[in-house]
Formats: sequence, structure tokens, C-alpha cells
Amino acid sequence: MPVTVRTFGSAGEAASALSSDRTARYFGGGTLVMRALNEGDVSISSIVRANDVALRRIEAAGPRVTIGAGVTFAKILAERDLAFLHAPARSIGGPAVRNMGTVGGNLFAPNPYGDFTVALLALDATVSVQGGFGARDLPIDEFLQSRERQAGNLVLSVSCPRPASSDAFRYRKITRIRPKGASVITLAAHVPMSGGRVLGARLALGSMAPMPIRARAAERALEGRPLDTSTITAAASAITEGTSPVDDALGSAWYRREIIGVHLRRLLSDQE
Ligand SMILES: Cc1cc2nc3c(=O)[nH]c(=O)nc-3n(C[C@H](O)[C@H](O)[C@H](O)COP(=O)(O)OP(=O)(O)OC[C@H]3O[C@@H](n4cnc5c(N)ncnc54)[C@H](O)[C@@H]3O)c2cc1C
Repeated sequence: MPVTVRTFGSAGEAASALSSDRTARYFGGGTLVMRALNEGDVSISSIVRANDVALRRIEAAGPRVTIGAGVTFAKILAERDLAFLHAPARSIGGPAVRNMGTVGGNLFAPNPYGDFTVALLALDATVSVQGGFGARDLPIDEFLQSRERQAGNLVLSVSCPRPASSDAFRYRKITRIRPKGASVITLAAHVPMSGGRVLGARLALGSMAPMPIRARAAERALEGRPLDTSTITAAASAITEGTSPVDDALGSAWYRREIIGVHLRRLLSDQE
């Protein structure tokens, strides 16, 4: 089936084209869209692209960083001010995928992908989207819950607070093949400390549900407590609550449930 490719100079025009055609798909880096097209996905009859430089902009100097949806993981790795996001960016695919794959595309990536989104979820990111209704900002939790419905909208950018210290944000991806393997589980933890206690804990998990989720019971186990052995043990005991792990060739749901507490404990106690 022929596929029409339409390239627009502005994000606004691309958003209008997307929202007016159900069979249109936005083309970020194309690492997933091209694969779908090559595999003969007939639900896509039109590709929408935008050359708008705003989609590739990074504002990283202040306490809140904003990253255009079209920014690639290679660009993030080249940006010293985004050092706190280097571990999740580096964990994605190999160099070719990091050169093409974008932050916007990662928000829509199905399991076992979506690693960068796990990091953004732990960091309480905001997603800026533009649809037929105009532009608006959504908390990432809300964006993910409505992800299916967001398909006709254009993601413009994501923004998140810079962690107060390098210790406050931690990330770990468990794979069978290093360094390029897909996720068995992905964990991200934002654990800011105040007066020796965790204040505002957010834990996010990948491959533990159909899309990245918060581990709210484990967050409650951390909140207001010192990050010591007994707190970490309590969080690890609660980590599977509310999860429905993926059961795939990389690992069974049972296996994922068994190992996630071990990896959370290592992540929070700074062990390899
Ligand atoms: C070999 C290989 C290895 C990979 N390894 C990993 C990995 O380790 N971890 C991981 O997380 N991912 C991995 N991926 C998946 C993928 O490369 C990444 O998730 C990447 O971030 C997707 O971004 P993209 O720009 O290429 O998406 P695209 O293919 O361009 O798009 C993916 C989806 O998102 C939509 N989309 C893209 N941008 C926007 C936007 N701005 N607004 C609205 N919709 C948008 C598209 O319409 C499409 O539905 C891998 C892929 C391959 C092929």
C-alpha cells in the first residue's frame, strides 16, 4: 500500500495534519515507525514529519530542564548539563538507535522499550502536547494513562526538575545482553532527602506492567524515613504491589517479580 510522507516547517502544521487523519503517524527518529512500515503495518497510510527547530531544542541551564520531543539520545549524551539523564540515555539500544531514537518516540514505545520514559516518570516530568485543541501540558502519569488517545497529538517537549543532588536520582536497567539488550526490568528512583529523610519519593518501573508505572506502595515505604537498611527492605517488600509484569522471551512475569526487590535494594543502597 502506498504511504504518503508529508513534511511541515512548523510543529503546529504537523499537529494539525496528525489530528485530522487517523491513519497518519508522526515520524520522530523512525526507529519503530520504519520497522512497522517495513513489516507491512497497513494501519499507517500517511507519515507526518516536522522540521521545526523547536522540537530539537534543549534548555538545560536552570533548575528545570526542557527537552524537545525530537531530541535524540545521542544529543542528550553530548549535553553536559543533562548528566543526570545520561544513564537512561546510554541504556537505550546501540549507537545507531541512540543517534536516531527520540525522547518523544520513547513515550510511545511499547514493552520491552520505553526506558527513558521510566526515568522521566520517576522525575515527575511534564509532557507538552499539541492537538486539534491547541497546546497543553500534562503530568507524565496522566499522559501515560491516556497514551492510546494521545496518538493523534504531537508531543512538543518534556520538562522535569533537575535532581537536587547526583544521589537523589538513580537508574538501573536489567538486561540479558550488555550493553545493548532490551529491558528485563528498568527501575528509576527519585529520592530527594531533607533533614536526613526521604521527602517526595518517586519510583518508576519498566516491564512491570503494559507501560511504565509508579511503584506507589514502595514510595510510601520510603516517604519520611531515613534511607537505611530497614526502610530499603520495607520498600523492596512492597515493590511488586500493583504490578502486572510482562511475560515475554526476555523473562517470565514470575522471574520479574522475583528479582525486582533485589535490584531495588541494590539501587537504593548504591550497590552494583
Ligand atoms: C534495535 C533496536 C533497539 C532498541 N532498544 C531500545 C532500548 O534499549 N530502550 C528503549 O527504550 N527503546 C529501544 N528501542 C526502541 C526505540 O528506538 C526507542 O524507544 C526510541 O526512543 C523511539 O523513538 P523514535 O523517535 O525512533 O520513534 P518513532 O519510531 O519515530 O515513533 C515511535 C512512535 O512514537 C510516535 N511519536 C514519535 N515522536 C512523536 C511525537 N513527537 N509526538 C507524537 N508521537 C510521536 C510515532 O508516531 C510512533 O507511534 C530500540 C529499537 C530498535 C530498533
